[in-house]
Amino acid sequence: MSKAADARPILPGSAVGVLGSGQLGRMFAMAARRMGYRVHTLSPDEDTPTGQVSDVEVNAPYGDLDAISKFAKGVSVVTFEFENIPAETAAAAARWAPVRPGGDILHITQHRLREKTFLSNAGFPVTNFRRVTSLCELKGAATELGFPAVLKTAGYGYDGKGQFRMRSEEDSENAWRAVGEQESVLEAFVDFDCEISVVAARTAGGDFVQYGAIENRHRNGILDISVAPAGLPERMQSEAVEITRAVLEKLEVVGVLCVEFFVARDGRLVINELAPRPHNSGHFTFDANITSQFEQQLRAVCVLPLGAVTQLSPAAMANLLGDLWKNGEPDWQAATSLPDVKLHLYGKSSARPGRKMGHLTALAPTPQQALTDAEKARRALAR
Ligand code: AMP
Repeated sequence: MSKAADARPILPGSAVGVLGSGQLGRMFAMAARRMGYRVHTLSPDEDTPTGQVSDVEVNAPYGDLDAISKFAKGVSVVTFEFENIPAETAAAAARWAPVRPGGDILHITQHRLREKTFLSNAGFPVTNFRRVTSLCELKGAATELGFPAVLKTAGYGYDGKGQFRMRSEEDSENAWRAVGEQESVLEAFVDFDCEISVVAARTAGGDFVQYGAIENRHRNGILDISVAPAGLPERMQSEAVEITRAVLEKLEVVGVLCVEFFVARDGRLVINELAPRPHNSGHFTFDANITSQFEQQLRAVCVLPLGAVTQLSPAAMANLLGDLWKNGEPDWQAATSLPDVKLHLYGKSSARPGRKMGHLTALAPTPQQALTDAEKARRALAR
């Protein structure tokens, strides 16, 4: 694609393509359809969260480059909601339509080792890490970094999957088995006070907006609750925002990117990981902000001006995992009886434990109240 074609706005009525078909694509498609765009989605699955609300749902593996080319020919821009898409797929799509954010960003962020290496080479704060390709290397790396340490697969990991926390050298064999005896990263454990994220958007022209620091709580390695704004000192929030701005600049992101941080007990901010797309911790923006992270992605990839990020109310988001379905369908009536709590369900038919099925967003005069309400609503759902 020529630079000139890159700069042309893609206006309502055009078709936008989404690679991936989960809830992030679903909420993107809702934002896009509200603004009069047509949405095409491609993934290996059928009757998907994104496909259910799109104009066209293509069912093909990401490695089917003919299908990818055909898909890209039918849309004005290709974006994605899932970063574990092969580099050849992004390249095949880019022959026919701009891919935003670019395939090189996917390539870096879908692989922990490349991502951490990029961040540390660029001077961003990350915990000490070592590449590990054998049990012997793992033992050596653990001796250098000390304990506790976290072993993670280098590629295709998310939501705490493919991870093992090592407490001593005796854990080496178990840890190596747990990551499938494949290329991995050993990270020094960060003793943190809390985890935060910053979701931001950037246009090709370098315009930048961000939603402030969001506080995140995880359970079993999966995001459980997000609260916005985070209750952090102003100085720390500004530092997180400035780091995020620099990351988007350095990667020349066109679209949305989320930076996840640990707030270490000694007050340092340490980047845990990047997600080059809307993020679970930014779901509250759908209900609480003038422009949601999904609309921002649309605006950025369609070369439109970014929207205002103003947050109209403190908010808290509680994820609804498949575990809630263990005694049958949750009590939707109870959850919807709280008037300031918004229910989002992703249209997934089978509720497996740990699977993200939906979320609740509570709006309240204070972040603490929003958190209390979101948790109360979620408790009311359980049978
Ligand atoms: P990840 O999939 O890498 O985001 O990890 C999932 C969760 O595991 C994080 O949100 C943290 O709660 C925890 N975790 C991962 N890496 C570390 C680390 N190096 N130090 C402390 N906690 C970690």
